[in-house]
Amino acid sequence: MRQGTLAIVSGFSGVGKGTVVKDLVKRYPYALSISATTRQPREGEQHGREYYFIQREEFEEMIRRGELFEWARYVDNYYGTPKSFAMEALAEGRDVILEIEVQGALKIKAMVPEALMIFVVPPSMQVLKERLVGRGTESQEAIAKRLRRTVEELPFVQQYEYVVINHTVESCADEIHAIVSASHAKLERN
Ligand code: 5GP
Repeated sequence: MRQGTLAIVSGFSGVGKGTVVKDLVKRYPYALSISATTRQPREGEQHGREYYFIQREEFEEMIRRGELFEWARYVDNYYGTPKSFAMEALAEGRDVILEIEVQGALKIKAMVPEALMIFVVPPSMQVLKERLVGRGTESQEAIAKRLRRTVEELPFVQQYEYVVINHTVESCADEIHAIVSASHAKLERN
């Protein structure tokens, strides 16, 4: 049985990648890795669905026990990918989606060179700012930090193999699915 494909999806804060990934896994048979984070849940987010919301001590314990595939700090919080879920799903031949930021993405790519790196961008930076502010989930200060982080992430975008524009949720999810499907076809040909 072939190993599953690991697809890393990154994008600026507020670009809507979470919504795109939700749509992708609803319509196609992907295994979505749920990350652990020390940030507070936003309204409507559930433990074990969007994230495993854990305390800082618990996160540091996971790092020490080697339970994370990768982890990174992002705007005052820790975020990390649990190893077991992704490893098991890949071994079962399932295609796995990791929705993570650039530092983690590069760490994974160094460990798994065949992983696909996909970056989601907004139709314009103005749209990004409007979405981030309009979401109403972050304080002014947190929004400013996230926008600064966006500027820091810009130089890393060129290290991604694919850049997709989030015109609509569905078209963006379809594009990601097309990238993964094309990589399967390529593997089968070789
Ligand atoms: P948010 O707080 O908006 O949910 O996520 C902040 C950033 O952390 C996003 O860029 C998201 O992709 C990233 N992120 C989420 N989970 C992980 C993870 O497990 N590892 C890393 N490195 N980044 C993550």
